[in-house]
Amino acid sequence: MAKKVAVVAIGGNSLIKDKAHQSCEDQYLAAKETAKHIVDMIEAGWEVVVGHGNGPQVGFILQKAELAEKEVNLAMASLDVCGAQSQGQIGYMLAQNLQNELKRRKIEKSVACVLEQTIVDKDDPAFKKPTKPIGGFMGESEAKAKAEAEGWTVVEDAGRGWRRVVASPLPKEIVELEAIRSLIEAGVVTISIGGGGIPVIRDDNGDLEGVAAVIDKDFGNSLLAREIKADLLLISTAVEKVAINYGTAEEKWLDRMTLAEAKAYLAEGKHFKSGSMAPKIQACIWFLEAGGKQALITNPENIGRALKGESGTLITCN
Ligand code: ADP
Ligand code: MG
Repeated sequence: MAKKVAVVAIGGNSLIKDKAHQSCEDQYLAAKETAKHIVDMIEAGWEVVVGHGNGPQVGFILQKAELAEKEVNLAMASLDVCGAQSQGQIGYMLAQNLQNELKRRKIEKSVACVLEQTIVDKDDPAFKKPTKPIGGFMGESEAKAKAEAEGWTVVEDAGRGWRRVVASPLPKEIVELEAIRSLIEAGVVTISIGGGGIPVIRDDNGDLEGVAAVIDKDFGNSLLAREIKADLLLISTAVEKVAINYGTAEEKWLDRMTLAEAKAYLAEGKHFKSGSMAPKIQACIWFLEAGGKQALITNPENIGRALKGESGTLITCN
């Protein structure tokens, strides 16, 4: 592709700021703010594919389904369908805000949202060992009661509370890849790989089938960035930069990291928390190892500055 293409994976904080701001309206406003930063990139000449997280949203959808089941005879939503629903609602909010912001700035560009399925290996070991937190945070006693009553697996998540965990298999293939590629080539601002993709497997006949799992959105977006040979993988999250010795007295915020350093720090195990920063670093490593030139991690408000080298953590091959 001749154009400068960026895959921008936006984190949960671009959609839900905190517990006091998780209504539909709050999520819309958060998406509106993030849309401005993405349009800044578009204005600076980037073709952008936006991917997003969906953990809390899937949690809310599950919670609603549980409540509804008691009142009306509706079957529980399955996790793949919840993923599809979340791509629809989040994609809608992002698309509309991007459309409004582009119009405000008189930039003539279409926006499209691709409902996307990601193929995982049905024999992925993750299915035997669930690790991915979904839904809202709970107290320890509530979490343990849920585990007992619902058969959930629950864990303590990065010092922030307790959460349900489900299998998080590795993304292998993007079903709608050619559609996404065509949209980017046509200059369409594309929203895709929501929540890492709707998890599906190929059965023995080669047919697609949804599975009860979630895919890491950083891994899913890294796969897309590799497949389309993007010029940049940008992971937008809640922190301006990445730190080594995170959360300790030796904490050091980094402006840059080489691929070799990123791999060494990740292997040390103590720098990046699993389930939050570690998968982002891994996503960047896989992208660079596959021929990607640069990966950038920063927060939404610093995207513009980070692209000018004034903020964020840039990871490059050397
Ligand atoms: P997202 O929703 O964007 O995926 P996560 O909460 O999963 O966000 O991951 C980002 C969080 O990772 C940061 O807000 C920070 O609390 C945490 N974190 C863990 N290790 C590090 C580190 N080494 N440097 C910076 N942040 C880190
Ligand atoms: Mg995350």
